[in-house]
Amino acid sequence: MNDAPSPTITCGGRIRAQPDAHGRAGRLAAALADSGVERGDRVAIMARNDIEFLEISLAIAGCGGNPVPINTRWLAAEVAHVLGDSGARLAIAHTEFVPILEAAREQIGVDIQLLEVAMPEELVAEAELDRALVQPTGRHPLLEQWVEAQPEALGYIEGAIADSMGLIYTSGTTGAPKGVFRERMTPHQLLSIAGGTAQRMGLAPGGQMLVAGPLYHTSPNAVAVLALRMGTDITIMPRWNSEKFLQHIDRKRIQQAKVVPTMLSRLLSLPADVRARYDVSSLTHLIHSAAPCPPAVKRAAIDWFGEALWEFYGNTETGTVTWISASEWLEHPGSVGRPVDGSAVLIADEHGNPLPSGVTGRVYVRGADYWPRFTYLNRGAPESPVEDLIWVGDLGHVDEDGWLHLAGRSSEIIIRGGVNVYPAEIENAIMALDGVEDVAVLGLPDSGDLGEAVTAYILARPGAALDPHGIRAALRDRIADYKVPTAVHLVDELPRDDSGKVYKRHLRDHAAEPAS
Ligand code: ATP
Repeated sequence: MNDAPSPTITCGGRIRAQPDAHGRAGRLAAALADSGVERGDRVAIMARNDIEFLEISLAIAGCGGNPVPINTRWLAAEVAHVLGDSGARLAIAHTEFVPILEAAREQIGVDIQLLEVAMPEELVAEAELDRALVQPTGRHPLLEQWVEAQPEALGYIEGAIADSMGLIYTSGTTGAPKGVFRERMTPHQLLSIAGGTAQRMGLAPGGQMLVAGPLYHTSPNAVAVLALRMGTDITIMPRWNSEKFLQHIDRKRIQQAKVVPTMLSRLLSLPADVRARYDVSSLTHLIHSAAPCPPAVKRAAIDWFGEALWEFYGNTETGTVTWISASEWLEHPGSVGRPVDGSAVLIADEHGNPLPSGVTGRVYVRGADYWPRFTYLNRGAPESPVEDLIWVGDLGHVDEDGWLHLAGRSSEIIIRGGVNVYPAEIENAIMALDGVEDVAVLGLPDSGDLGEAVTAYILARPGAALDPHGIRAALRDRIADYKVPTAVHLVDELPRDDSGKVYKRHLRDHAAEPAS
């Protein structure tokens, strides 16, 4: 007899054995199939981080559907875009998000069935919600009733899990989110993807993984589903809290966690005595990606976490492209790594002509050999002057040893007096100044004849006294004068999404509004 305890999923005080979660997912899959969900159908999920989120993802894939997670911070118009674009006819949502889904559904005028997920007490308390506002609405069937009414779990559909990656939306940092619609994966492709990722992340049965980001983002979701398949214990944070993150690592002897640079920066902002309270030596893989990590943050994170700190660069379209360890980064500061597993990077101009090492150009990329081909849903295949590689808008260079360095997104490049200025370089210089917690630099129309003015929005660390003149003076010793921001604004917060990306278009729109 095997007495080994079953792996579990824990979230905000609730715990479920993984075999139970699989059983419930199978019964929900049967209910979804009964309600008419067929292979290839899209089913939206709008939910907070919770055990049910994973069960729902598995259930949708289990009956052959494509889960379409929706960002819980979106407003009705943004939700309506993804609902309409994906063609979902069923949406599964925590009670809290039912009104917004109803409003979005009305905006697009499509009959979308809603299945409501009652919010457990622990989640309501953790999210500091008003219990009275999140009572089940009574307007829609409840997920729990569907699960309970199904005595039998749906049997495994060949290739079903591959369907769970069939349609994934980009983050929408530079415009409306694009649906990346992949060719159906073969079991071999799926195993290769899962195997490659599990190996890079050091995932293994019996391990301990912490999910820190929202499950509606691809990366936390994909690693959680992978950990579930590997039989790794999973702890899901209902939402980010820097000290609790350390507490979980210490208490559960966490080995893997996936974070974004903003989270690293917040961890580093904790007072030294708080940081010292927690033992993080169990970590083998603290992995970050999704947005640029300022070198000052990266160095401090390496000082703290050592070789446990890893980074990768990738995108929704091609998956992981490059990967880098802490010591490799110290040898090639600022790099995001070298291509993994048969993926490829080429720096070229807009016509696809390759550029020499050290020269900044478009970063054309290809996913691993086994990565499925894709088209943009309702937009067709991407066009590219380079065969087999695509450009998703990033600029950068490759150094002489083949390490990729990103300079930023092309839509964010600042053109001042005809000269290209890369915001990332200025952001990195500002992040290295004392007292800076966060920064975003963008180009706004120049009042003179220089085209664009370099403009910085800076968030101070708690208790730090920053002043715009002092910042500009300090920067003059570090970067060329034409890169020094003409305007420095101190702000209370920056519009970052949970994957750490700054919505610069929101800052731009805000700056364009007439002052009230
Ligand atoms: P949209 O295309 O809708 O604007 P998006 O490109 O933000 O959305 P994603 O596919 O989620 O959507 O994000 C991929 C992008 O994230 C990359 O193209 C790159 O700009 C950024 N990124 C990912 N990893 C890193 C990293 N390690 N360092 C810097 N930037 C990164």
